[in-house]
Amino acid sequence: MSGEAPTVRDAPRASPTGGITVVKVGGSDGIDLDAVCDDVASLVASGLRLVMVHGGSAETNRVSTLLGHPPRFVTSPSGHESRFTDRATLEVFEMVYCGKVNKGLVERLQARGVNAVGLSGMDGRLLEGRRKSSVRSLEGGRVRVLRGDHTGVVERVNTSLLTLLLDRCFLPVITPPAISYEGVAINVDGDRAAAAVARELRAEALLLLSNVPGLLRDFPNEGSLVRELTVSGLEEAMSYAGGRMKRKLMGAGEALLGGVGRVVLGDARRDMPLRRALAGEGTVVT
Ligand code: ADP
Repeated sequence: MSGEAPTVRDAPRASPTGGITVVKVGGSDGIDLDAVCDDVASLVASGLRLVMVHGGSAETNRVSTLLGHPPRFVTSPSGHESRFTDRATLEVFEMVYCGKVNKGLVERLQARGVNAVGLSGMDGRLLEGRRKSSVRSLEGGRVRVLRGDHTGVVERVNTSLLTLLLDRCFLPVITPPAISYEGVAINVDGDRAAAAVARELRAEALLLLSNVPGLLRDFPNEGSLVRELTVSGLEEAMSYAGGRMKRKLMGAGEALLGGVGRVVLGDARRDMPLRRALAGEGTVVT
């Protein structure tokens, strides 16, 4: 445990070195997108260079169920859970992520005077990676191979497109899917995609904002917040991080090993969520 956490007022303003902050806003229930956009607008106005990445998982689950194609989650033999993304799922995923959620954020930001540009990872080959067209799924103690999957991991980021936008004061708002080397859409994990963006931009900070205060030692007890972690402590943290929190820790490790200054897992259910995270509220990984 660390000592006193710094206050929100201590949050850095515009970086004198022009460093970039990448913020990923999750797609889980409870996240206050208006509070996120208020905070983004005031930080951008103060000169912070920001890139946004977002999720949309809860809404995708709702819409796909309404459309009669409920989500299917698979657990790999190594214990990682992911969404099985066949072509029909991919289409719903695109409707929600690239449509409702991305444009909802762009609209909120435009209403606050921020010239946001929404981009999927396919646009301008912003996020590129290898497609995994089959996935191994552990079902009832047996491993099954599911084909027709559209998933992958981001390996390359078109940083020239991002710096072009940033240099002209546009705020990029990035959403999965990414694009495979063959030009096929791939569903990628948003936290790890944000980590790749932060790594390739050599960001000063990566903020992963979600519907929890940060990493909890004893989930869901919010009093068990882990305030500080180092890269070497991430492996042990994996033992008490469940499901999707594991992906955030993987992303944190990838970003830090790639040269990002620090990663903060913060709470997007509160006001000033970016300022709070920049001031060290949440789990700070260095
Ligand atoms: P988002 O879509 O907002 O990025 P995720 O659903 O991917 O968020 O990941 C956050 C979720 O991780 C939390 O809502 C919580 O249910 C889950 N979780 C599992 N283990 C932990 C833990 N040890 N500490 C905090 N959250 C955890």
